[in-house]
Amino acid sequence: LSTASLNQAQLSFPPPNMSQTERTYIMVKPDGVERGLVGEIIKRFEAKGYQLCALELMQPSKDLLEQHYRDLASKPFFPKLVAYMSSGPVVGMVWQGKEVVKTGRKMLGATNPLESAPGTIRGDFCVDVGQNLCHGSDSVESAEREIALWFPRGAASWTRRFDSFIYE
Ligand code: ADP
Repeated sequence: LSTASLNQAQLSFPPPNMSQTERTYIMVKPDGVERGLVGEIIKRFEAKGYQLCALELMQPSKDLLEQHYRDLASKPFFPKLVAYMSSGPVVGMVWQGKEVVKTGRKMLGATNPLESAPGTIRGDFCVDVGQNLCHGSDSVESAEREIALWFPRGAASWTRRFDSFIYE
């Protein structure tokens, strides 16, 4: 292949269709951080083809967790959930890509790890619902709310050249 025809082939490659791009908030919970599974979880989102736009290890306050889980405030397990989530550092991330909210939840697996399919993060790495390793936004609207809550300074917007190899 000559340099000229290689350059021509690259130039005629159509631009990727990014119209269905959205963002989600994914969090490695304290058990995932303690167990050294941060890299494994990042690896799966990277390998899938999703794009990282924010990443932070932090110790969340109870106040922040109560806001994050405000829809669950009336559940009997709520105090235990807030205690679990504030028991150590968490790693929060913003991932971007086509249908990343729905697909990200599929990659995490069902809330109860015993019902999570093998091949999912919870299905592969945990057992109990109260130690289920990770969080993922359940809708585009919740993702926007959660990203604003956990990353008040905003997440990065950047153009990834690699997108042509992920999206048609
Ligand atoms: P998800 O995290 O899959 O979106 P929910 O929003 O229903 O699920 O619940 C939030 C978190 O609360 C769960 O991930 C889990 O850590 C915890 N949780 C849910 N149900 C229970 C339960 N019955 N007992 C203890 N913890 C629970």
